Amino acid sequence: MQSDDQWAPPSAQAGPPGWNPVTGMAGWDPRVGPPGWAPQTPYAPPSVPPHSGTRGLGPDGLPARHSWEIPLLVVVVVTTALAYLFCIGLLLFGYVDQYVILLILAPLLLWFGRGANYSMQRLNAVKMSPTQFPEGYRLVVEAAGRFGMATVPDAYVVTGNGQINAFASGHGFRRYVVVYSDLFEVGGAARDPDALAFIIGHEVGHIAAGHVSYWRQLGMFLVPFLPLLGDALIRSQEYTADNHGYCNRHVGAPGAMKVLAGGKYLNTLIDFDEMADRAAVERGFFVWVVNALSSHPVLTWRMWALRDRSRHGRLFLRPNPPQPPPPQYPAYPAYPGGYPPPGNYPPPGQYGEAPGLPPNQR
Ligand SMILES: [Zn+2]
Repeated sequence: MQSDDQWAPPSAQAGPPGWNPVTGMAGWDPRVGPPGWAPQTPYAPPSVPPHSGTRGLGPDGLPARHSWEIPLLVVVVVTTALAYLFCIGLLLFGYVDQYVILLILAPLLLWFGRGANYSMQRLNAVKMSPTQFPEGYRLVVEAAGRFGMATVPDAYVVTGNGQINAFASGHGFRRYVVVYSDLFEVGGAARDPDALAFIIGHEVGHIAAGHVSYWRQLGMFLVPFLPLLGDALIRSQEYTADNHGYCNRHVGAPGAMKVLAGGKYLNTLIDFDEMADRAAVERGFFVWVVNALSSHPVLTWRMWALRDRSRHGRLFLRPNPPQPPPPQYPAYPAYPGGYPPPGNYPPPGQYGEAPGLPPNQR
């Protein structure tokens, strides 16, 4: 008995004949087979459901490109190319205008601007290293590794003078991110390493997604002159970069948004969910207009997109308002109100390894 039954649950020996210790009812355990039946292979647990890939919205949890980014990019590049050819035609016919000159010189102007911007950081900024802003340096290296980049971009810190900002750019084959020093402030109440990891993941994501390539930026040279179209393309790029930030440190997403919403000290007063909920509630013509003309996703919609990882962020139409409680779980214990928060969350257990954002801790 000891040698044969040593792996059986203790209660297995206690029940009556035919009693199933697993189900607690009469009848043989379907996983073991009927009494006396010898399985050919040992019992294997049921296979784990495939990873749903919601973390970065892409396969295997890697960051996905926003679904509208490439279609919008194609339209913008074609528009820019046609405008460029048109300007060359105007020039050949002797029509000279400042905008014609601007577009004709675009390749040169862009090259000059990128080179000057890069040198500005090389001359003035603090370069992150294992000894200067080592935490930021490590985050950049980690993000580049997570996104499978062959080269780690340079990373700089510039004085923020109270502003919260960061950006990514490049010159030639070099790529770099610049983080405003306010994001590093150690003593402030906003000290939130996860938020910083999200923001650095966002910026490194711009590089990983190819947003800072010279040729891409040349093809998007007309974006400032294409109000609705250009802004929508930039917004889709920001959602793509947010997917990278989320993939890099998803628990930092609420903190990063709260710093953007309330600054580095008063961020603690902001309820991420309460603000995200308003994305579905605020409506009207001018809400539509302000979002459509924004270069970044409006903050409430951006928060909503970071909370609802089942779909891409909205570009033009506000997210769906809260749905009535689904009949299959009218009083699901995970949701004290009886139904899931807005955003069409999949029920818990169907959400892969990122079961939504953690509860607010601040
Ligand atoms: Zn960005």
